[in-house]
Amino acid sequence: MDIGVPREIKNHEYRVGMTPGGVKELVRDGHHVLVQCGAGSGIGLLDEDYAAAGAELVKDASEIFARAEMIIKVKEPQPEEYRQLRQDQLLFTYLHLAPDLAQTRGLLASGCTAIAYETVTDDQGGLPLLAPMSEVAGRMAVQAGAHCLEKAQGGRGVLLGGVPGVSPARVLILGGGVVGINAARMAMGLGADVTLMDTSLARLTELDALYGPRLKTLYSTAANIEAELVHSELVIGAVLIPGAAAPKLVTRDMLQLMPKGAVLVDVAIDQGGCFETSHITTHQDPTFDVDGIVHYCVANMPGAVAYTSTFALTNATLPFIKALANLGWQQALQQDAHLAQGLNVHQGQIVCQAVAEAHNLEY
Ligand code: NAD
Repeated sequence: MDIGVPREIKNHEYRVGMTPGGVKELVRDGHHVLVQCGAGSGIGLLDEDYAAAGAELVKDASEIFARAEMIIKVKEPQPEEYRQLRQDQLLFTYLHLAPDLAQTRGLLASGCTAIAYETVTDDQGGLPLLAPMSEVAGRMAVQAGAHCLEKAQGGRGVLLGGVPGVSPARVLILGGGVVGINAARMAMGLGADVTLMDTSLARLTELDALYGPRLKTLYSTAANIEAELVHSELVIGAVLIPGAAAPKLVTRDMLQLMPKGAVLVDVAIDQGGCFETSHITTHQDPTFDVDGIVHYCVANMPGAVAYTSTFALTNATLPFIKALANLGWQQALQQDAHLAQGLNVHQGQIVCQAVAEAHNLEY
């Protein structure tokens, strides 16, 4: 199969859909991989690395869209990209179609077959192609929070781990899923005093068995959150109710309970945020202050660590890419019901119920 990897064109997107290692695997399986010049240069994956792995380097994205049978990307196609897609072409990337009518219409008009990373499932009921980005965001949340706690960033001037003779900072994590547990591991690793809350007792039991007394667990209720806010210097919002907006677990009034200069990192901001006072920020201007509390609400945290994120993502996508290339998409989806969940659009039809419902379109 001819497989194409264009350079990402979304603003400040440095990730790439395939590494030279991935190219090598596909070439070994007998496929031809076209990579756009400079596709990985933002993170030090050079054209010569791709060429050495067996890729054909092409100058323009238009040549990739014209020649490839399957296009591998990271971000959803931009207008100039979906206009080039065609009926016999397969697109495999993050799509997030539900809030994006323009892109949905563009994909329908192209007639292409589009499989979305974010709706592929696994045996445990998880989303294996979203999980790597949650791992990155969870770990980054602690790094970002520690930085925001510095005085020069408007923070309280507290070092997460403390030093001998000085107590460590207290970190509260709301939600013990993929983001939450990765944040907890980082915060505990830095020596902070960590409490994690969830509404799932089963999850809290699991985390207790894993980490013992190093990680305090608490059932998530408004009363428990209020009690914890009084002494928490860093609060990380990591909740998710699938398919719904994030619940507002910390209201504006509750900010008064917190020490001045404390930090809120709202990782759940991409679902509307779990703090009432959150609004989306960017890596260029990541924080703002409300009532003396620093808010960090970047919606695409993994983009800041594009090198790590590329490898985390492509480790998870490569087996699916290989299956699609080796078997052809129809047979690959027939053999793998979880990959089949990724199919969003086919020949001008929406084939994902949630996307159809979001746009009131036929399914
Ligand atoms: P997950 O499903 O693995 O975990 C969510 C957890 O929240 C679950 O354990 C659930 O029981 C818990 N929860 C639900 N309601 C709760 C409540 N009221 N109190 C406490 N816990 C509650 O989800 P995840 O992969 O960890 O993702 C968490 C959020 O982070 C999602 O909104 C996701 O989209 C977002 N995210 C953001 C970025 C970013 O760059 N900002 C990156 C990756 C993920």
